[in-house]
Amino acid sequence: MASNAVGVDVGGTKIAAGVVSPEGEILAEVRYPTPHSPEKLVETIVRSIREVSDGHEVGGVCLAVPGHILAQENKVVFSANLHAIEGIPLKDEVEPEIGVPLTIENDASAAAWGEFRFGAGSEVDHLVFITLGTGIGGGVISHGVLLRGAQGSGGELGHVTVHATGPRCACGNRGCLEALASGTAIGRRGRAAAVEKPESALGRIAARRQVLGEDVTELAREGDEAAISVLEETGVWLGIGLAGFVNVFNPEVAAVGGGAMAAGDLILASARREMRLRARPPSRDLVEVQVATLGPKSGLLGAAALARDESGAYVLGE
Ligand SMILES: [Zn+2]
Repeated sequence: MASNAVGVDVGGTKIAAGVVSPEGEILAEVRYPTPHSPEKLVETIVRSIREVSDGHEVGGVCLAVPGHILAQENKVVFSANLHAIEGIPLKDEVEPEIGVPLTIENDASAAAWGEFRFGAGSEVDHLVFITLGTGIGGGVISHGVLLRGAQGSGGELGHVTVHATGPRCACGNRGCLEALASGTAIGRRGRAAAVEKPESALGRIAARRQVLGEDVTELAREGDEAAISVLEETGVWLGIGLAGFVNVFNPEVAAVGGGAMAAGDLILASARREMRLRARPPSRDLVEVQVATLGPKSGLLGAAALARDESGAYVLGE
């Protein structure tokens, strides 16, 4: 019998733990600021799991962690936003303290699983998920199975090169999709547009303070032409990335989430257009490019579902 599970979204600024029912309902939730020392970090993860589970029957726990993981060792090997988590044997340190089985998953892959089980992909078996935030994360579900690769580090859709001589990416490479279509890239492009068009609403903000990605979205929604063209250009780069993913994975749905999706169709309309120009039939004609539906809860929900699904409770088609 399927039971409740705990999903823990370990982020660079906060840790959110939730007890989730088999149907995807969050029954209880706690949040703590993320400590940036390894000992305090483990302590806070343990405390959040104990606290949130209190009074609930829980069958398993999954940690959605930021960065590249070695799944067999239950370790994060590199995390740009949370160096303190690197190298900690999470299963060995946390499991004895909580008394239920624990697994780990990359946070974007967990979010993809959340959308697959409870959100934009819940009606399909083939899903590509991309999250546009400070960086770009991704996850792929094919035939109802989460793509992990040999070490659990697969599905890094944000670090596919789409422009050989493009801007430097946080990962050290040049021209990654992340460097061209993330919230950070929107901010950078917005600052350049503000310099070019000082009379635009973007330009007027730049005269007072630094232009951020959120400013671009807000002004575009109010009709500022300079801001709208920044988002359209961002959508073109996203579409170039999507075309590749559509050709490779032939998904039924490509769901796009993350903070930058506050812009919705201001980004997605040009992304769809570009994808259709570049991807091959019949894949390009099947895929629906849509906004992810779970918002910031997708990681927590997906992690909880993985804790249960991994123990065999989930069977495709049921
Ligand atoms: Zn990169």
